[in-house]
Amino acid sequence: MRIKISPAKKLKKRPADESKLGFGNIVTDHMFLMDYEVERGWFDPRIVPYKPLRIDPAAMVLHYGQEVFEGLKAYRGKDDGIYLFRARDNFVRLNRSAVRVCMPEVDIDFAMEAMKKLVLLDKKWVPRSKGTSLYIRPNMIAVEPHLGVRPARSYLFYIIVGPVGAYYKEGLNPVKIYVEDKYVRAALGGLGEAKTLANYAASLLAAEEAKEKGFTQVLWLDAVQRKYVEEVGTMNMFFVIDDEVITAPLGGTILPGITRDCVIHIAKQWGMKMSERSLGFDEVIGAAQSGRLKEAFGTGTAAVISPVGQITYKGTDYVVAEGKMGELSQKLYDEIVAIQYAEKPDPYGWREKIG
Ligand SMILES: *Cc1c(COP(=O)(O)O)cnc(C)c1O
Repeated sequence: MRIKISPAKKLKKRPADESKLGFGNIVTDHMFLMDYEVERGWFDPRIVPYKPLRIDPAAMVLHYGQEVFEGLKAYRGKDDGIYLFRARDNFVRLNRSAVRVCMPEVDIDFAMEAMKKLVLLDKKWVPRSKGTSLYIRPNMIAVEPHLGVRPARSYLFYIIVGPVGAYYKEGLNPVKIYVEDKYVRAALGGLGEAKTLANYAASLLAAEEAKEKGFTQVLWLDAVQRKYVEEVGTMNMFFVIDDEVITAPLGGTILPGITRDCVIHIAKQWGMKMSERSLGFDEVIGAAQSGRLKEAFGTGTAAVISPVGQITYKGTDYVVAEGKMGELSQKLYDEIVAIQYAEKPDPYGWREKIG
């Protein structure tokens, strides 16, 4: 399939102050789209000026929530080149998410080609300041107008991109996390491991209530026993107890994060004791009380590594790493970011220069 490119006639003004980008506020001049129908497969791939979509009010995504998405970034390297980081893994995951909600898969090579074309067309938008990047949001929605419940027969896949700054307004300062004991995010057999809209709708109220109490995010426990650590908002979660680095196993209820996978890989490479295992929150409390909880941090594309300085569970505050960024958190952050921004060689084969 050939991607038809219709460049925008009038280009937008790009943000002058890269320190004020924030996250998810700005989109570029163009977007990629392609359509799907059961009888035809994917067709009409095109890059067009960024504009609102026209969809039928009966489009099935608006009623039954067939949607999957991804989040990844393009980085401007030290050499002014444009780099992607493990981008293929995002499309592999997109397809897995799609299958879970009865949506069609995309051809990974083709989707990558389309994304690269879009990023390079809008390459002036890839910001240069430290910590900034071009966020890439692939999205797939069910567009068939139909009000009966069943998988749709037509879909739209699109990619939008926009420059972003640091994810949290606290920057790399440790965040306060609220351990959620009222709501649950995902149960075994549900949608937890798919990047699909329902998971985020399910999490909003808990996040809002936590924010009102002064927390940045909630930490989810397992839906059955409300005991085992799962993940945080849009990040996977790691704890360092003594010399063991622990993260929840991919059991079906948490998102298989690519940053999570990087941390596991690097920690093992560094010879650390890295465990993917069930971790009861009582064990975390015990470790915190006896001074053995060394660090806690979240991982995700948006924030990379987000150190946790305080965890609050049933009204008790547990301070982690004296409320500062831990040594391992900092080392992991530096390592991953240096690879993403081509500031050092990439021994893992994760980086790809596209322009
Ligand atoms: C996207 C996401 C993550 C992080 O995944 P990365 O691939 O590391 O960006 C973790 N948890 C949830 C719920 C997510 O949506």
